[in-house]
Amino acid sequence: MPRIRAVLFDMDGVLIDARDWHYEALNRALKLFGFAISRYDHLVTFDGLPTRKKLEMLSREQNLPVRLHGFLNDLKQVYTTEIVHARCKPRFQHEYALSRLKAEGYRMAVASNSVRASIELMMEKSQLRDYLEGIVSNQDVTQAKPAPEIYLKAAAMVGAAPAECLVVEDNANGIAAAQAAGCPLLVVQDVGEVTYDRIAARIAALNATAP
Ligand SMILES: [Mg+2]
Repeated sequence: MPRIRAVLFDMDGVLIDARDWHYEALNRALKLFGFAISRYDHLVTFDGLPTRKKLEMLSREQNLPVRLHGFLNDLKQVYTTEIVHARCKPRFQHEYALSRLKAEGYRMAVASNSVRASIELMMEKSQLRDYLEGIVSNQDVTQAKPAPEIYLKAAAMVGAAPAECLVVEDNANGIAAAQAAGCPLLVVQDVGEVTYDRIAARIAALNATAP
């Protein structure tokens, strides 16, 4: 296994505690038309999927009219932006982790199933944007996670082979994407587990097995 040269972060649930924001924003939009998803379904089935995928699933399972998808997608985006402006703040532990990793020479990128505008806004509001080489959104690929494309593109962006990129992920779709791309993983439960110490320890363990 090659030595780790880069760190690729998922965004929601890893750098940004946005699961509830996406849930709230989508439900606010759905409620206008008498539809809803439960918090349980959102956590178990929908978390980490792009909005358009969630809408396709709702059309199959709850007969949500397909002609509403475009409007609901736009409205959900407006609501998400409102919530982000109100609640997205810098988190010292993440600023410390990313600044120290950057100082140590690791190249970093965010690879997320969210749309580009949301990622840019959240990275800006949390003051992490300057540490990143770039961002790969669901609009930059033909297949979102769990397909490997987002991580393959992010690896190319940081100029490293997938096997040289540590991926930090929190859910099944993202883990599947990273594994399919051939990237080693650090799996976290939530944003609180994303610390310099954990990332450095995982990199050291992976490097210890390098030839
Ligand atoms: Mg996630």
